[in-house]
Amino acid sequence: MLTRLKSNFYLAMISLVGLIITVCLTPYGIYRLVSGNIVVGIADLGMVLVSICCVSFAWRTDDTKGPGLVMAIAFCIGAILVCINLGVDGVFWLYPFIVFIFFLVSPIKALVMLLLSLSVLVGFAIFNPGQIFVSTFQLVSFTVTCFITSLFAYVFAYRTLTQREALRMLATTDSLTGAANRRTLDDALSAAISQHRKHGTQFGIMLLDLDYFKNINDKYGHKAGDNVLTELVPVLKKMVRQRDTIFRFGGEEFVVLLSDISEADLGKLADKIRLGVNEHLNLPDGKKLTTSIGIAVLAPDESWESWLHRADLALYQAKNQGRNQVVAA
Ligand code: GH3
Ligand code: MG
Ligand code: MG
Repeated sequence: MLTRLKSNFYLAMISLVGLIITVCLTPYGIYRLVSGNIVVGIADLGMVLVSICCVSFAWRTDDTKGPGLVMAIAFCIGAILVCINLGVDGVFWLYPFIVFIFFLVSPIKALVMLLLSLSVLVGFAIFNPGQIFVSTFQLVSFTVTCFITSLFAYVFAYRTLTQREALRMLATTDSLTGAANRRTLDDALSAAISQHRKHGTQFGIMLLDLDYFKNINDKYGHKAGDNVLTELVPVLKKMVRQRDTIFRFGGEEFVVLLSDISEADLGKLADKIRLGVNEHLNLPDGKKLTTSIGIAVLAPDESWESWLHRADLALYQAKNQGRNQVVAA
């Protein structure tokens, strides 16, 4: 449980919000029902119920987007009902709600929902003077403070999101070529094996190694070698489908992971890639580059280590047989 909370930031956030709402609002809801304020009691307990259902759903399915949106909508409606019925006493609840909503949905969605809710409340207060706020001054103060809190929460949430995204990119991408890095390969292969066992999806991998790459560095310089690696990835991307992933396995070795592919198609595609690299990649003096490829289709009950090892042996064979060829495991 702790591992899931640590690894899934959004699940942790949705759970924290759900827990706080349940602990804090349940006594209030019961008190309001007992003291005869049915609308506020139902609104409070409704928010608690929605939170419990959404958090349970998120834990069962690992989907946090849908439950987060439902919770955010429930909180906006609940907060409006509470403010209209309790007046200024209910307004204090709006400030923690503003923060909660930024933990549940994307920053822009949260801002739009909050501005809409604020407009509804302010509109109601203007047409029903004295029901929520005792003076116009109070109404203006509320509007300005809510707006400022929402705006700063938005800026903070937006910056956090972009920084998380940048960190994720840094941790998962190879900085030279933009391909996925070695660290993510193990996870992707394990995920492929789970999908194969659950749904029977066919997977194939290609292990691709440029031929005599050391000579390129020696002859044209390390920078020219880097350029070849940088140009290779877009060439590969053009030849595979969007759902297939390209990983930089090490130096000038790349792995392509392909789903829904038969052994025959994997072989045909690998040969197309071999010819494509030869056609599209040029050395500084216009000379052509060749590549050797080992391919392996995932076998039933196979571990990812053995799958990758078979592709590696096939690549080794391709090198031994004279390079510039595809060998199937
Ligand atoms: P083979 O046909 O057997 O694959 O020969 P090779 O020369 O390609 O193979 P080898 O593995 O001996 O050499 C790989 C070279 O790739 C060695 C290293 O200098 C170079 N290399 C590794 N990473 C980089 C990199 O990021 N940039 C550049 N320019 N060269 C790299
Ligand atoms: Mg090589
Ligand atoms: Mg190599």
